[in-house]
Amino acid sequence: MEWTQEQRAVIYGNYWAQEESHCPDDNAVLDVKFQYEGLLATCPRCRKTIHMNMNEDPKKDTFRQWTAVEINEMGDAHFQNKSSSCPVCQRCVDIDATSFSGMTVLNLSCQRCGNKHEIKSK
Ligand SMILES: [Zn+2]
Ligand SMILES: [Zn+2]
Repeated sequence: MEWTQEQRAVIYGNYWAQEESHCPDDNAVLDVKFQYEGLLATCPRCRKTIHMNMNEDPKKDTFRQWTAVEINEMGDAHFQNKSSSCPVCQRCVDIDATSFSGMTVLNLSCQRCGNKHEIKSK
């Protein structure tokens, strides 16, 4: 039996909230990978595999773009050696810093809600 839309939403939501989801049929811990802008979940027990993307996120209606203030705060936190959680979905934000020609560029991205932003500091 295929996983229903509701089961998929639970799998998707639990993964982001707890980094762990269980197979709705046999309760095995699913093997989840981030792939193609979404999650690929495979059950090691029954071998069911599904790919889900942001459209199946149970919280997608709350997703919006980061504001300029939020972006600045995440940039500031990075330089204070603090990690930031996404102001939209509370997922830990990935920050990639590169420096060139006397400038540091931060690439902020959130895997869950898909927000991305580049900050250039002088
Ligand atoms: Zn299973
Ligand atoms: Zn987010």
